[in-house]
Amino acid sequence: MDISIVVPLYNEEESLPELTDWIRRVMHQHNFSYEIILVDDGSNDKSWKVIQDLKLQHEEIIGIKFRRNYGKSAALNIGFNAAEGDVVITMDADLQDSPDEIPELYDRITNQGADLVSGWKQKRYDPITKTIPTKLFNAVTRNMSGIHNLHDFNCGLKAYRKDVVKSIEVYGEMHRYIPVLAKWAGFKNIQEQIVQHYPRKYGTTKFGPGRFVKGFLDLLSIFFVGKFAKRPMHFFGPIGVLSFMVGFVITCYLIFEKLMSIANHTPYRNITDQPLFYLSLVAILIGTQLFLTGFIAELVSRNSTERNKYHIEKVI
Ligand code: UDP
Ligand code: MG
Repeated sequence: MDISIVVPLYNEEESLPELTDWIRRVMHQHNFSYEIILVDDGSNDKSWKVIQDLKLQHEEIIGIKFRRNYGKSAALNIGFNAAEGDVVITMDADLQDSPDEIPELYDRITNQGADLVSGWKQKRYDPITKTIPTKLFNAVTRNMSGIHNLHDFNCGLKAYRKDVVKSIEVYGEMHRYIPVLAKWAGFKNIQEQIVQHYPRKYGTTKFGPGRFVKGFLDLLSIFFVGKFAKRPMHFFGPIGVLSFMVGFVITCYLIFEKLMSIANHTPYRNITDQPLFYLSLVAILIGTQLFLTGFIAELVSRNSTERNKYHIEKVI
């Protein structure tokens, strides 16, 4: 199979018939063999009913229904697991992304060596309250991830070589950082394609303003996960040891000073009367704590493989 199109959706009943028609038209024009995987992320409108009707008409549609709303990342993840095409395309259900872009995306993967192609909605139809934070978000992500050629990490329209989606796990709010996950997994050829963006035709956005805070915290976690998930001791250990050493050296100095005073018969203060003593005590305690935190994190990290837990209600 050439292409799997994965569409995560949450309450998108009005858009689905139009979207699948549009995709099918493009697929037939280019003679692609394909499947459309519609992942109903626990919608409470008629989306699932619409998917069932579409399935009756078109056998290349696969419907997966979550028992409740688990979020876009979980929906993409289940779609990635199910996908069988050589190239996997993701797109939003709300008709903001255009299926007309798929042939070029496909070509970049199959003929131009790309592992992942990320869409760039250069001209967007979103309110300014969204476009400005988005610019900032992308600049931060670009610099932190070292993927300097992407402008629109969160674009719903992306294409992947099959190996990529089978090698990564999308969880939490990580759907915004799939290129970063791919880079961490060792895929180097990450490309960008300018894509059309349309205003949302039906319904409203499913993400509130909290998206940027959540997204930023996830970005931080991705770096810690990427760098230290397997060896948390490598993060906590050195800081802990350093802090412990500082405390230890100060204590030695205080003892040395006191012994010198005794030997020279000069007056001295009790060690416990000196502020420095308390500083060293704190440093030793913090150092020990950090070291133990690292130790516990090492134990935990060996058992933390289960991130995605979701319940599928139906598959058609
Ligand atoms: N979506 C989803 N689960 C959710 C929220 C959103 O599957 O919990 C889907 C949604 O139906 C759409 C895509 O993710 O197909 C992008 O969502 P939306 O259009 O609301 O985001 P925006 O375009 O405002 O960034
Ligand atoms: Mg949208």
